[in-house]
Amino acid sequence: MEKFSERLNRMSFSQTFVMSNKVREMKSQGIDVISLTLGEPDFDVPKNIKEAAFEAINNNFSHYSPVPGFLDLREAICEKLNRDNNLKYLPSQICVSNGAKQAILNVLTSIINDGDEVILPAPYWVSYVEMVKMMGGIPVVVETSIETDFKMTAEQLESAITPKTKAILYSSPCNPSGSFYTYDELENIANVVAKYPQVTIISDEIYEYINYDGKHTSIAEFPQVYEQTAVINGMSKAFAMTGWRIGYSACPTWLAKACEKIQGQMTSGANTMAQKASITALKTPYSEYQYMIKEFRKRRHLVFNLMKEIPGFVVNYPESAFYFFPNISYYIGKNLNGVAIKDADDFAMFLLDFAHVGTVGGVSFGNSDCVRFSYAASEKELTEAMHRIKKCLEEAKVS
Ligand code: PMP
Repeated sequence: MEKFSERLNRMSFSQTFVMSNKVREMKSQGIDVISLTLGEPDFDVPKNIKEAAFEAINNNFSHYSPVPGFLDLREAICEKLNRDNNLKYLPSQICVSNGAKQAILNVLTSIINDGDEVILPAPYWVSYVEMVKMMGGIPVVVETSIETDFKMTAEQLESAITPKTKAILYSSPCNPSGSFYTYDELENIANVVAKYPQVTIISDEIYEYINYDGKHTSIAEFPQVYEQTAVINGMSKAFAMTGWRIGYSACPTWLAKACEKIQGQMTSGANTMAQKASITALKTPYSEYQYMIKEFRKRRHLVFNLMKEIPGFVVNYPESAFYFFPNISYYIGKNLNGVAIKDADDFAMFLLDFAHVGTVGGVSFGNSDCVRFSYAASEKELTEAMHRIKKCLEEAKVS
């Protein structure tokens, strides 16, 4: 007999995993599928980071670490935040977690009561909405579109704020849109939030280094909201360390203490070897790892040129992260080869079934007109995927 909690029933499975499981299933049946579903770099962990982990093992860093992380790692994070973001934090304001995912969950658990509202500019990362629901919060979605590069304005934000608003949660650079907020845009947002001291900004900056054209700004740089901001970052994307599970939050002291309290009862300190290796990663000049960004930049150019030739696709040129989020609303409400396309998820399923390319429909990102393509794949796969989709749609019977 199944006895699920209401908390569980409020949540959905991640659409990203639904699609990647379907891809795996098709591959196991011998179907040649190209998967552009997953949000992780396809590079190996850089050598000096691996060596630091071996050293930590040999030096017997095998016991529990302090709950918020080793002091030397928290010091390295403070140095990084100062060096790259002009942000001043003390190690006591840092909580190292099992990935940025846990860092976000720690913050939400610390501040959200049943019925509290959390503003999510859409498109948002799939997990945000489920995490908010898990905590008993109410997601308040602010819609944006491709015409404005999927960015929320300060005016839109202000009109979504109510006395029940407890937090605003967004990623910049953004998964899935690949956009990032500029200094001026964030300043306008900071000026709004500063008027509402009950609101905490949860600023997910995990794609900070995967930024092609502009300088990354953290909203915590604006002194009017420093005390209201939780900065989230981690090792997964910039250092291709997704499986090593290290992320962190930088918060005002009261919130950092709360994160530590929660994590202390849930999971304790994060993996010790990965923590030690993260110190090396953060202290190495990022120029040493820039080859990954260079590669992503080349692929972005390649995909953009091929994707804009696909019939019915409206594409913008994403400035950061490794995703495209084209608008495919041309196909919505139509039949493709007899398949009814009601929303972007149906379209993603159509692409998988007919072009054998795995993508993720935008519904669970809060946008039912767009489909997410990850370009963390080889140039050969990306080229082939774009050709397959173009051919499939050119030949499809549209009614
Ligand atoms: N935030 C965003 C926007 C992400 O895309 C991801 C990973 N897909 C995460 C957080 C989670 O990262 P981590 O591996 O550090 O938990």
